[in-house]
Amino acid sequence: MPTPIAHALGGVTAGCLVRISAALVRPGCALDAPLVRIERRRTIAALAFLAMLPDADLLVGMHRSVTHSVGAVLIAGAVGWASGRDGRLLTAAAVAAAYASHVLLDWLGTDPGPPHGIMAWWPWTHEFYLSDQPLFMRICREYWLPDCWRNNILALGRELVVLVPVTLTALFFAYRLPRRTRRT
Ligand SMILES: [Zn+2]
Repeated sequence: MPTPIAHALGGVTAGCLVRISAALVRPGCALDAPLVRIERRRTIAALAFLAMLPDADLLVGMHRSVTHSVGAVLIAGAVGWASGRDGRLLTAAAVAAAYASHVLLDWLGTDPGPPHGIMAWWPWTHEFYLSDQPLFMRICREYWLPDCWRNNILALGRELVVLVPVTLTALFFAYRLPRRTRRT
């Protein structure tokens, strides 16, 4: 499964895609919603945090199950909806998208230990799912082994090569472009 850094990049990208979509549908108005109105750095930090949140299940010994599912994404979106005073739909969409990015990236990961993958379609099924075409390398947790660190550095490098260009492009279109558009 990907590193927290990859998940943070995925969450920021997902939130930016929501912002871009909203700006295309309702130019100007959508950018007033709470999650995107606050300072840009705080918004990006919030999206990154939301995308890393599902792995908190490691603390309770239920890793890759309920928290890594479409059901959890819907719950996260509902919490986003309830927490927003105005712009509820955009806040809910941004929260759900950032959270969902974690599920997607884990599905695209490598998981050699059974049960393989994530409980993606909870509560409809308790089956575990994993892509046949993994995009990300396994993250080794046997940190006392020298090969473990080498593997994790390679895995992180691969994640950065794949995700950083995507995230930077999303940030550009989400924040730079609307600002330039408003000036003209
Ligand atoms: Zn995870």
